[in-house]
Amino acid sequence: MTITFHGAARVVTGSKHLLQLNDGIRILLDCGMFQGMGDHTEDLNEHFGFNPETVDYLILSHAHIDHCGLIPRLVAEGFKGPIFCTPPTADLVKILLTDSARIQEQDTAYSNKHRTKNNLPPLNALYTEEQAEESFLLLKTVVYEQEYAITPTVKFKFTDAGHLVGSAAVHLNILENGKQTHITFSGDVGRYGDLLLKSPQQFPQADYILLESTYGDSLHQELGSIEDRLLEVIQHTCLNNKGKVIIPAFSVGRTQEILYALNSLELKGTLPDLHYYVDSPLSEKATHVLMDHPEVYNKAVSDVLKIDANPFGFKGLKFIQSTDESKALNNDPSPCVIISSSGMAEAGRVKHHIKNNIGNKNCTILMVGYCEPNSLGGRLLRGDREVHIFGEMFEVKAEVQSIKSMSAHGDYKDLLHFISSQNPKTVKKVFLVHGEYEVQQHFKEKILAAGFADVEIPYQHQKIEIG
Ligand SMILES: [Zn+2]
Repeated sequence: MTITFHGAARVVTGSKHLLQLNDGIRILLDCGMFQGMGDHTEDLNEHFGFNPETVDYLILSHAHIDHCGLIPRLVAEGFKGPIFCTPPTADLVKILLTDSARIQEQDTAYSNKHRTKNNLPPLNALYTEEQAEESFLLLKTVVYEQEYAITPTVKFKFTDAGHLVGSAAVHLNILENGKQTHITFSGDVGRYGDLLLKSPQQFPQADYILLESTYGDSLHQELGSIEDRLLEVIQHTCLNNKGKVIIPAFSVGRTQEILYALNSLELKGTLPDLHYYVDSPLSEKATHVLMDHPEVYNKAVSDVLKIDANPFGFKGLKFIQSTDESKALNNDPSPCVIISSSGMAEAGRVKHHIKNNIGNKNCTILMVGYCEPNSLGGRLLRGDREVHIFGEMFEVKAEVQSIKSMSAHGDYKDLLHFISSQNPKTVKKVFLVHGEYEVQQHFKEKILAAGFADVEIPYQHQKIEIG
């Protein structure tokens, strides 16, 4: 059999790996969108590098757009097979791809306005909301640890990867030429000791491992008390300075972690009596998905559930839906906390909140996740005194604070922990995927030092014979 790396090869987005068995069966692992690849992004997303009509099965590790974002396009181009994923992933995929389709359609309509003015032919959106909905019909859920036979010779099972609600590592067992081959695809690997999720599970011995390597050369700061840090910032900003705290946060994952931490403060009786707004319709939907799947929670959250039916809800919390309500927050001078997407403050409603509060020294912008250096969040984090927002220059008078320990990806110790259940002598090869090339080269050395004999860093569209 062969495996071809059609995305997340020496980069961190576009996750897509195609297995082709000798009997012609083709299994795609993930169907992610490329993001932030500059001028190449569109081209990479429009050309898969294989014919979707010839793919028989798709197995999805988790619902982040860089892992599932091209599913509607795959289906529109002729893929008809089942899409296997865990039940929470199926729920998240539906809300995230609907949102993604809306963004594709809006962006294309915007570009086409300019193109029409310049007598250029209009472009088509990468996919539409209708196409996204059609692709949902193919979703087929499989729970963690249940062995599922795709064909008489191909079985797989999911184990919890601890990275996002429903995230899974995929373990394939393929019988070919009278020989069993075990292939593990890690998907994205979470941290040991996540605030909400269980730690990544041990997995059965593999012959080949496709391992993510996002943080293959770095260590996260210790998970300090996120609650303490949040409380400190809220007390300082809202109670002492009578200002607003603006928290840019991804709608799925990070927003719920912040809500959980605020809820924990309420349970302790220390949460300041204020208005707390979640200004992102997607966040509210994602919070409901989490509440619908209590099986994903770690022990600490399960314990909280015994005394508090809603670990993401507390006094003063309000989810904002309409843009009018969102705009109304600007005219309300009272101290409050606003959690809004996107996490890097590059797009979404949070950009407006930052614009409206950045000139006020009593306000705080609290960054709680990784930011690309050139994103608005990244520029604020590195301490720029002036930033461009919507084409206007603003002096940064608000305080910029961060909680750096929050990350959905494991660091290199977590990744080495993840593969520590393996006998390295039995593993024929580790393929490093989903990482920057320079990071992967450092990580390769660490894996070799752990006793794995062969580590390869495949390049885009590279086809490799395995088995
Ligand atoms: Zn992910």
